[in-house]
Amino acid sequence: MPRILQLDSHVADLIAAGEVVERPGSVVKELLDNAIDAGASAVTVEIRSGGMSYIRVSDNGCGIPSEDVETAFLRHATSKIRDESDLAAIGTLGFRGEALAAVAAVSRVELLTCSSEEEMGTALSLEAGVPGEREPAGCPRGTTLVVRNLFYNTPARLKFMKKDSAEAANVAAVVQNAALSHPEVSFKFIRDGKEEMLTPGDGKLLSAIYGALGREFALGLMEVSSSGADARVWGYVTKPLSGHGTRGYQHFFVNGRYVKSRLMTAALEEAYKNRAMTGKFPGCVLHLRLHPGAVDVNVHPAKTEVKFLSERRVFDAVYYAVLSALEGELSHPEMALRA
Ligand code: ADP
Ligand code: MG
Repeated sequence: MPRILQLDSHVADLIAAGEVVERPGSVVKELLDNAIDAGASAVTVEIRSGGMSYIRVSDNGCGIPSEDVETAFLRHATSKIRDESDLAAIGTLGFRGEALAAVAAVSRVELLTCSSEEEMGTALSLEAGVPGEREPAGCPRGTTLVVRNLFYNTPARLKFMKKDSAEAANVAAVVQNAALSHPEVSFKFIRDGKEEMLTPGDGKLLSAIYGALGREFALGLMEVSSSGADARVWGYVTKPLSGHGTRGYQHFFVNGRYVKSRLMTAALEEAYKNRAMTGKFPGCVLHLRLHPGAVDVNVHPAKTEVKFLSERRVFDAVYYAVLSALEGELSHPEMALRA
């Protein structure tokens, strides 16, 4: 047997990076999470060749103080949580302090940032995670990250990338979900020099749906709104007797975070049962608000899966909210009884 040795930190970083950064869409997701956590009201995402050669995410959020720019790229470096007790109730999209380290480890990164407290901005470039010299730079308040040549130093991963068009479609879905989860933020998506999506950031979910998913989808929706003791559910679902050929039009969000949830899908579809949709799936943009302690987002690095403390309550909340919308009532009597 060979000896057991601890891997050096560079190799450990590459392995860890592989879990967070699977493809261009995962880079964009992490950078959008950071922009939202920074309180941005406008975010622009630009990609070229599916994001493989170039990704730029610009926000007008709080920025990073000059003295912290290198620290931001260290593993487990975060401004969002401080100790174990904070893990019990996460209030931000990010908290692991892994994303920037992971992205930087497998690409060439340029950071340009200016924090609210500073007059001058800061620029920093990194090559495979190794920072160059930090430099003062003029820039508006906020943060811009440019990520070039993704996976250039991990050829094994590079081989697994799909066609640029498939990666671009995945990035577009990531930007859509960000826009749908944060209607108060304006999102712009530019692909190979062409503007593909713009949401107004006026705080209205329907405006975000219109901008992100298009006019036709937005026009076929009805509103859902309900609140009980332990959950609030709101958003839009497709009108009865319409529907889509796939589940691709189902968008679920828990506490402002896009999630994939079989439980919520099941609750939605159960509410449509007997409403003659054979072979079709309802579409939706549904938000669920739970007490932060009632949901664990600490399950997976990519964080699209969540664990609910009470699956029954979540199922019921979604089911009755959709059902009462479908039945054309504002509040379902059973829901009121349960609350
Ligand atoms: P996390 O988001 O989990 O804290 P990241 O690696 O994504 O970890 O980011 C590290 C830190 O860098 C964040 O905690 C935050 O303080 C800072 N940061 C990253 N992106 C931005 C941004 N767009 N605006 C302001 N600060 C940012
Ligand atoms: Mg983050």
